[in-house]
Amino acid sequence: MSKIVSREIRLVSRPKGIPTAVNFALAPIELGPLQAQEVLVRNRFLSVDPYMRGRMNDRKSYIPPFELGKPLTGGAIGEVIESRAEQFKPGDVVASNFGWREHFIASAHELRPVSREVQPLSLHLGVLGLTGLTAWVGLNLVELKAGETIFISGAAGAVGSVAGQLAKLRGCRVIGSAGSPEKVKFLREDCGFDVAFDYKAGPVLEQLKLGAPEGIDVYFDNVGGESLEAALSALREHGRIAACGAISVYNEEKPPPGPSNLFNMITKRLTMKGFIVRDWLERQQEFEKEVGGYLRAGQLKSKETIVDGLDQAVSAFLGLFEGKNVGKMVIKLSGPAR
Ligand code: NDP
Repeated sequence: MSKIVSREIRLVSRPKGIPTAVNFALAPIELGPLQAQEVLVRNRFLSVDPYMRGRMNDRKSYIPPFELGKPLTGGAIGEVIESRAEQFKPGDVVASNFGWREHFIASAHELRPVSREVQPLSLHLGVLGLTGLTAWVGLNLVELKAGETIFISGAAGAVGSVAGQLAKLRGCRVIGSAGSPEKVKFLREDCGFDVAFDYKAGPVLEQLKLGAPEGIDVYFDNVGGESLEAALSALREHGRIAACGAISVYNEEKPPPGPSNLFNMITKRLTMKGFIVRDWLERQQEFEKEVGGYLRAGQLKSKETIVDGLDQAVSAFLGLFEGKNVGKMVIKLSGPAR
């Protein structure tokens, strides 16, 4: 194996509030020779995800915090360059959790083969990857049924845009909120939402009531805060909430108190189910069969915001909190095409 100098992005200090560029460093690293059962991978696409913000805090959560001075781990799709493991050969495409680096060496068991037939390969991170699976799991968890009305916040993002389209395919009435007129247009015209509104243009509850005067059956929460409070008011009796994320509070140093109208849970006999997508990986094949089928049939659209180059990873990540992405935010690393 010829000597490879890779580059990686490390967390060098823990952000307080909104992260800034000084919390990160782009550093070179020389990769050693391959040992038996090891594989050298060149990353092609890196995932950029809101949950990474939580791992920047020095606080135990459902996954451990990022270590200072170490590269940020996370979903990535790469190509095998060299292999000393019989399971992989050069040119194979693999998914890993090795995150924000150009090249890396891994043991074969840390890699998952994925199909090169799926193009662009970034779909393995978005609609056919963890964010697509998140949307599918959330809808299944609350047993969304045909004829129901669902409200989805963060609707123009990776999870939300897939959740909304899957809900339409199930025969539901779908209402989405997002943070700009362009995103509202995307939801209505490209994703087929029945109603979409800009949550920055006026109180969420007022806009939600206009779209769903008779109330909603299900709320898919990506955002928390005001949107959750509005949904609690708009839900009908026996309504359900898929508690997926709460991006509106991820940068708060002291989380704000919960919704003032939580008592609706009792009076309306509501159910709220939280979930972590990684608990559902054994359903991946079932998910890929169903959602891959919709994709191939042209019934589901995949939208991505592609940012070029590892040196843009931090600004892409910060962009998630400014609403810079439509669909899945992905970093593309250029290199020889295959
Ligand atoms: P998105 O692609 O939706 O990107 C984040 C979006 O959040 C931005 O584009 C922005 O859109 C919106 N946003 C940012 N700040 C705020 C705010 N203060 N208030 C309202 N909206 C805001 O990300 P994902 O689809 O990857 O993730 C969506 C949610 O799902 C996140 O909360 C994430 O943590 C969660 N998640 C949960 C998983 C689980 O296992 N439970 C797995 C994966 C994701 P806009 O312009 O509309 O404001």
